[in-house]
Amino acid sequence: MTRSETLFEQAKQTIPGGVNSPVRAFNGVGGTPRFIEKADGAYIYDADGNKYIDYVGSWGPMILGHNHPKIRQAVLDAVENGLSFGAPTELEVTMAEKVIEMVPSMEMVRMVSSGTEATMSAIRLARGFTGRDKILKFEGCYHGHADCLLVKAGSGALTLGQPSSPGIPEDFAKHTLTAVYNDLDSVKAMFEQYPDSISCIILEPVAGNMNCIPPVAGFLEGLRALCDEFGALLIIDEVMTGFRVSKSGAQGHYGIKPDLTTLGKVIGGGMPVGAFGGRKDVMQFIAPTGPVYQAGTLSGNPIAMSAGLAQMEALCEEGLYEELAAKTKRIAEGFKAAADKHGIPMSINYVGGMFGFFFTDEPQVTLFEQVTKCNMEHFRAFYHGMLDEGVYLAPSAYEAGFLSMAHGEEELQATLAAADRVLARIAAA
Ligand code: PMP
Repeated sequence: MTRSETLFEQAKQTIPGGVNSPVRAFNGVGGTPRFIEKADGAYIYDADGNKYIDYVGSWGPMILGHNHPKIRQAVLDAVENGLSFGAPTELEVTMAEKVIEMVPSMEMVRMVSSGTEATMSAIRLARGFTGRDKILKFEGCYHGHADCLLVKAGSGALTLGQPSSPGIPEDFAKHTLTAVYNDLDSVKAMFEQYPDSISCIILEPVAGNMNCIPPVAGFLEGLRALCDEFGALLIIDEVMTGFRVSKSGAQGHYGIKPDLTTLGKVIGGGMPVGAFGGRKDVMQFIAPTGPVYQAGTLSGNPIAMSAGLAQMEALCEEGLYEELAAKTKRIAEGFKAAADKHGIPMSINYVGGMFGFFFTDEPQVTLFEQVTKCNMEHFRAFYHGMLDEGVYLAPSAYEAGFLSMAHGEEELQATLAAADRVLARIAAA
């Protein structure tokens, strides 16, 4: 037995499924999850001493690579002053100013401790502000695990085949309307059916929890127009895309202005952080200035703020996002070229620092329905082949891949050479 196998068996005795978040259990690909001991730059190291080039990056936060010296130092310095105060700090003011500078649609911001908290709070605020109960989300989009958002959800919920979770009363779920991502007509139909009761649309501006699906031309603009026409708020969930698709997120990349934005992952530099913010008149509806309640014992935690700020400051370096996008393009197009070479049908999507590959004949994947029809056998074979070659991809066909600035020429070349060998073996099988 490997050390990971032993630890996994031990973990299952005391932790449901042996993991603290479902996709980590490798349900989407089978086999034993690797227990990780440490990470540095583009690499993670498991408990058996294996080294992998990492394209998960802790599911998004590690955009500069693991154990970045500036972030590590910021955390060490902050620890000297104590771990938590439960009182305001200058660090939180600096963080709010930095977020607003980078994402200009956010006129005010509040920090929380996870992406789930960010979206849950933004939804409550949208409902309180508009006085309407219904929300509209898209099938296959994941926005964390708040009750109202675990309806036809993506990510682990989809991997496990439970896109709508038991435990959510029908009385709650009925207020969550779902539409088809990249299909404006399906959204229009909902507004026509419920013209006065939809408080908000929430969406991933590039879907990253049903693999990676960018918005088709006109989709985001169409949603903005529908929200304006029917008096609903547009919430862009940038927990994954924020500071990843561009310095100002997907909203900057596509030139779309939401009423509210949610953030997570990159904003914490690897610490548990989320944030939501947007229009000042809407944000002032939050307690203590407004009536909508929202709070957190560890919100704005000084260690987490220090890590996040150090990362955000480093991300403002000139040319960084162009370089990240170029690396991402190379990996995605390199996978596709290798698949073509070996006669294996594959389609790819990529934008900024995120990418997806699909084992399918479809020339372009733009719809959730297409993702569910992909060749899962090919995905599993590719996944395990790459893992054996020392490349750690997301262990589910419903997750996006992430590049970091620490992925250099050596890692990119090694990854593409591994993909070539693995796809050759799949073609020969
Ligand atoms: N929104 C999106 C778009 C996400 O990708 C995620 C997590 N993958 C969340 C919200 C929830 O964030 P967290 O896991 O930090 O609660």
